[in-house]
Amino acid sequence: MRIAVLPGDGIGVEVVAEGRKVLERVAEGFGRRFEFTEALVGWAAVDGTGTALPDETARICRESDAIYFGAVGDPARDATLPPRERPEPVALLGLRKGLYANLRPAILNPALVDVCPLRPEIVKDGVDVLIVRELTGGLYYGKPKGPTEHDGVRGAVDTMVYTVPEIERIARVAFEAARKRKKRLCSVDKANILACSQLWREVVTGVAKDYPDVALTHLYVDNAAMQLIRNPGSFDVIVTENTFGDILSDEASMLAGSMGLLPSACLGDGDVTPFYEPIHGSAPDIAGKGIANPIAAILTAAMMLRHSFNLGREADAIESAVDQVLKAGHRTADIVSPGGSRISTSEMGSRITERIAVA
Ligand code: NAD
Repeated sequence: MRIAVLPGDGIGVEVVAEGRKVLERVAEGFGRRFEFTEALVGWAAVDGTGTALPDETARICRESDAIYFGAVGDPARDATLPPRERPEPVALLGLRKGLYANLRPAILNPALVDVCPLRPEIVKDGVDVLIVRELTGGLYYGKPKGPTEHDGVRGAVDTMVYTVPEIERIARVAFEAARKRKKRLCSVDKANILACSQLWREVVTGVAKDYPDVALTHLYVDNAAMQLIRNPGSFDVIVTENTFGDILSDEASMLAGSMGLLPSACLGDGDVTPFYEPIHGSAPDIAGKGIANPIAAILTAAMMLRHSFNLGREADAIESAVDQVLKAGHRTADIVSPGGSRISTSEMGSRITERIAVA
């Protein structure tokens, strides 16, 4: 199992180190062999090689079975490179190219109800939603795109386009995911207005025939945005197109209480190496202080084991260790209750590592 490890910038370096600690413990405890190859990305790579995604890093990623990524970016240095050469577009778009399914679980651990911005009675049983976002189509890539000018009047156009195969493949990813969870899938669209959404609904409904064990419902995106706040516990898996998914997954991430808790995966069909990263960025405001929460990166490692290596038991062991540590009241600064005591990034990583129950 070859893993390309790309810590990147800022807290990426700190949290990936903890994820790796956990993976090494899993390897030892479960008798697995992970081959880690660390590579430069982001500003760290610009400094060393002049580009945010060096050829050597791209090669290592291509030759690996999974990419374990931290974060890239440093707003203080942005002015030194033109926007198109900065790490975010170069590294993220470069490595995610062709990966069409973005999986973003938004989980509010019951032990953290006090850090969720919603009232306790709404989230008392915790929240566990998986958002499956289509990542390579829709409004972000459709043509025509760009500025326009007609009869001296300036405007701009973006085009939402989807094809049946694009919708079918993401729907299948979502149905498969729902099958492994509570078997409920909510497809989110705007079929009362948008032609793309009407096609989306028709195709998702068609795919549902292959998954009779999964209960499919449909919601308009405006209603879905509201229900996520009103009754987040009602959702299991949500599948939606690129733009709606971008917005809803950020909204859902707030339910967890901190950016430092949530993992993500970008998956494709096998030609491109799957990409795993915590949802947060490089957090320059706290980088280098040893206070970042490593849980998002650690849960990202669990997602990688589950999706790329089919190591469900090992992934469960990591998730259960995180649960135990939170239940025991250990907190990094971002999730500490008023008056509570806080532990460092590496202490959090160590406490989770110690609790990995081996086979
Ligand atoms: P950010 O996610 O880095 O930080 C947002 C806020 O959340 C900050 O206050 C930060 O301290 C806090 N935070 C984030 N992760 C945390 C953690 N693990 N533990 C505790 N607190 C945490 O977003 P930003 O500030 O908008 O962006 C900073 C840089 O990261 C920018 O250069 C941006 O472009 C980049 N970025 C990169 C990625 C990526 O690599 N995928 C994603 C988002 C942003």
